[in-house]
Amino acid sequence: DIRVRFCPSPTGLPHVGLIRTVLFNWAFARHNGGKLVFRIEDTDAARDSEESYHQLLEALRWLKIDWDEGVEVGGPHEPYRQSQRHDLYRDVLEKLVAAGAVYESYSTAAEIDARNEAAGRAKQLGYDNFDRTLTEEQKAAFRAEGREPAWRLKVPDKDLTYDDLIRGEVTFPAGSFPDFVLVRAGGVPLYPFVNPVDDALMGITHVIRGEDLMPSTARQLALYGALVDAGVTTFIPRFAHMPLVLGEVGNKKLSKRDPKADLFLQREKGFIHEGLLNYLSLLGWSIGPDRDIFSLEELIESFDIVDVNPNPARFDQKKAESINGDHIRMLQPADFASRLVPYLLAAGVVDEPMTAAQQEMLQAAAPLVQERMQLLGDAPGLLGFLFTSDITYAEDALATLPANAGEVLVASVGALELVPETEFTTAAVQSALSAALIEGLELKPRIAFGPLRVALSGRRISPPLFESMELLGKAETLRRLGALVA
Ligand code: GLU
Repeated sequence: DIRVRFCPSPTGLPHVGLIRTVLFNWAFARHNGGKLVFRIEDTDAARDSEESYHQLLEALRWLKIDWDEGVEVGGPHEPYRQSQRHDLYRDVLEKLVAAGAVYESYSTAAEIDARNEAAGRAKQLGYDNFDRTLTEEQKAAFRAEGREPAWRLKVPDKDLTYDDLIRGEVTFPAGSFPDFVLVRAGGVPLYPFVNPVDDALMGITHVIRGEDLMPSTARQLALYGALVDAGVTTFIPRFAHMPLVLGEVGNKKLSKRDPKADLFLQREKGFIHEGLLNYLSLLGWSIGPDRDIFSLEELIESFDIVDVNPNPARFDQKKAESINGDHIRMLQPADFASRLVPYLLAAGVVDEPMTAAQQEMLQAAAPLVQERMQLLGDAPGLLGFLFTSDITYAEDALATLPANAGEVLVASVGALELVPETEFTTAAVQSALSAALIEGLELKPRIAFGPLRVALSGRRISPPLFESMELLGKAETLRRLGALVA
């Protein structure tokens, strides 16, 4: 049975690279009827935070990415936070000690540097495996000095090869890295130890993660060999390293600090989870030639990790927004309207809770913008004028007013006054205004209707004009047209 994991360290805000990682793991698990395990790698007390942990939960819940085992939901391998698993790590270390796979290391960084220098060995080569051959007397002497040992893995002196599901065969030549620390002096277990140990204890079959973690795969393969020998597990998982996500320009990785990488900022801008996940799935994967838009069901149906392209993928905000727009158009109208509410609330356009009149306005107005919106965050700007009688005119909108705007507005007021209040419909308003302005004053539509749009909404761009007039009603429409004349 396929078991994959998402195991972030709770540092900083959730970013889109991390979400692409969990998305591919999730899609792979769901496609294969496997399980997704959500584990928290909080072994770095200095950098980890509870706040970040809660943000990760919030991110997955908003994205509707569910997990089968892990934090919050529990499961057979509890606990799922590494900070609570120290007893388990101690047990595994004991097994490795018993199997002779690890050794005590007393060397300090300064001592290692000094030895390298004396031997004319490059400092970058790092540790020289010095403590591998310490005698019992030497160890006892160090302990007598009050030193505590770290534990290092005896890295086998042979090439390490594995078959990456995305990249094919990868070989790390013998001697690429020295014996490394699993558990620090004082007992703190480190990432190169606890990450594979948890994968082993949790029966993870596929490790799917970013290309930036490939160097640690070499060390993990070495450790896995020892874990198998020590009887901690019976198999080594398959590995798949997803392509880097590049920023919009150049060949640099999309920085975690780039605002475009910030998941919550993207949500604030108005991504819906369907649109964002569709876009993120294209960072390395494709459902087929010339096809960009698909549902999450279709993603699950078609996703296979071996189809992921190893070449770097570029984050493209415009494309992401355009795909989001497509997904917005696919929403049921009532669903679309309800998703606008948080944005309208945040902008102070509607009250909390919304009044009945505001609810009614929202239901009527939402269909006017659903076709033309790429981001829900555009809703307050586009729809705000329908929820207030206090219009402020944007500078760029006023700048579009033609010289004869006053004449146009006066003629419009005259024409609309003749439309009975009970028949103030989109069609009636349109025919009255067309007769007065296009036929009567012989104006081009842009000259005729531009000033009306500014008068009504204060903006250059708004939902369709005549529909908006119907929604505002006769009295309010006339008041706004008159207000701009004055
Ligand atoms: N906690 C690690 C990180 O956030 C996980 C790496 C992995 O997927 O193995 O980078």
